[in-house]
Amino acid sequence: TSLPEMPAGLPEPVLPPNAEVVLTKRYLRKGSQGEVLETPRQLYWRVAAAIASEEAKYVDSSYSVEELALHFYDLMITYRFLPNSPTLMNAGTDLGQLAACFVLPVGDSMEEIFDAIKYAALIHKSGGGTGFSFSRLRPQKSRVGSTGGIASGPISFLRIFNTATEQVKQGGTRRGANMGILRVDHPDILEFIRAKEREGDLNNFNLSVGLTEVFMQAVEKDEEYELVAPHTNQVKERLKAREVFGLLVQKAWESGDPGIIFLDRINRDNPTPGQGEIESTNPCGEQPLLPYEACNLGSINLSRYIQNSGKDDILWDELKRDIHLAVRFLDNVIDASRYPLDKITETVQKNRKIGLGVMGWADMLFRLNIPYNSQEALNLAEKVMHFIQFEAQSASKTLAEERGPFPGFAESTFAEHKQGPFRNATATTIAPTGTLSILAGCSSGVEPLFALSFVRQVMDGERLLEANPWFEKALHAAQCFSPKLMEEVASKGTIHHLDYLPETIRKVFVTAHDIQPTWHLKMQAAFQKFTDNAVSKTVNLPHEATREDIWQIYWMAYEMGCKGVTVYRDGCKSNQVLCTGDGG
Ligand code: UDP
Repeated sequence: TSLPEMPAGLPEPVLPPNAEVVLTKRYLRKGSQGEVLETPRQLYWRVAAAIASEEAKYVDSSYSVEELALHFYDLMITYRFLPNSPTLMNAGTDLGQLAACFVLPVGDSMEEIFDAIKYAALIHKSGGGTGFSFSRLRPQKSRVGSTGGIASGPISFLRIFNTATEQVKQGGTRRGANMGILRVDHPDILEFIRAKEREGDLNNFNLSVGLTEVFMQAVEKDEEYELVAPHTNQVKERLKAREVFGLLVQKAWESGDPGIIFLDRINRDNPTPGQGEIESTNPCGEQPLLPYEACNLGSINLSRYIQNSGKDDILWDELKRDIHLAVRFLDNVIDASRYPLDKITETVQKNRKIGLGVMGWADMLFRLNIPYNSQEALNLAEKVMHFIQFEAQSASKTLAEERGPFPGFAESTFAEHKQGPFRNATATTIAPTGTLSILAGCSSGVEPLFALSFVRQVMDGERLLEANPWFEKALHAAQCFSPKLMEEVASKGTIHHLDYLPETIRKVFVTAHDIQPTWHLKMQAAFQKFTDNAVSKTVNLPHEATREDIWQIYWMAYEMGCKGVTVYRDGCKSNQVLCTGDGG
């Protein structure tokens, strides 16, 4: 298909600080000698045109391709919405793989294990991340029928996956990210929990233990639970649930790994249980998927929907209009994307999952003068996400009228409950937006700021200095801006201790470490309440946090309806991605 030409006089995107470095390094198309072939304007037009051109085949659409391309372009260059990185990198190119999230099955045979490694390599090459459950592999030391030998078990295979990933650099710049999951009732669970004990081990993997309802109840009642060999269904052993939970907590305290996911809860929300069980998420945990399923994500930048004056300052009408456009964009991405495996194409087209989420949440709160760690912020989180969820679903309904529901709809739980029809089996996901937030110049996902001013270490050891623009603005407005103050903030990261600053500024401009861990978790739960998939969030803990603190956080996450939780205790790993002046 021919793409619409770039119209004359198309506005030039204004790049936020550091966006140019990141764009040039990772997103702008390059020639065979590494020379840059496009400008940022050409990049955003390439993406807008490629995604809009899918509209042509839908005869009932009320948009022309040209008109829609202009809408998409405008959404992106004003940073109100950005699609996930692979879409920005690959739309309208020969590669054409546009999704960030994949889950692959790992079956209990040599063929299936090495197939999964090969498929993962192809996905990493195209910029996607992969999640796997290793729960179907027979435990170590089990018999191998065909050879009479002895199985090496999930953890030894995990290391092979990790090494394979190391060798495939994504598109030359993005390294493959993986999620590895093992059910808590797998006989090798203790070894799995300890698998990242040594610094640097399995460095291309996030690990999560798949917790079951049966296990959680055994923890609560201080009982034993059963470990079952997946290939024979035989009970191999009984363990005290609290001891396993305690070990999990201990390891998370030491290194942040493993995290936990609540498998039964994820499957309770599986919209297409007839197609099988969900056994894994993508690498950062926000996207549960069926085996061979992929999902593309996109994020609305909430900091862009504030009026400068008046009380209820949120631009709801604009937000609604953009959600509908964004859902159309993400649904078109499914058609425009080329997946590395036919089986993936088939599964994706059957359920057409998309994940619309948010970024710039902390910035929105700054602009509204609401502290992140307040009941007011939790109430607003629910209100905003409820609105997004509702409008995203209503947009998906409109698309179903124009284009037909997702093919798996008839056998979905929506049909059973007489809801819909929808074009997409899921509509909302909250991604980390690690790089997108740099391109958009906003705070990432629903996280608080790590520091009001800090040095960001990007790949290759490059260091970028950043100060939050809303913080600077507030200081100017209160007439307390000074370069000396900015220096102090850059080295400490927080203004908590600066008692000469106005009280409201100190209350509103809080950073991740000023915020009590329970507030982090409450915020995650508030967004999860109105998110189809899951929420990417780290519960930051101070260095002095105890094992009991983590135990409590895990338990609260379970009680508050989260789908999983990741904790990170400051300073427990030497190589942090973000660091304040002192830590860097
Ligand atoms: N991801 C990946 N490699 C990376 C960063 C991200 O494979 O280096 C995938 C992974 O599945 C992650 C998802 O992209 O969960 C979304 O991450 P994020 O929102 O940070 O990506 P962005 O679109 O901002 O690059």
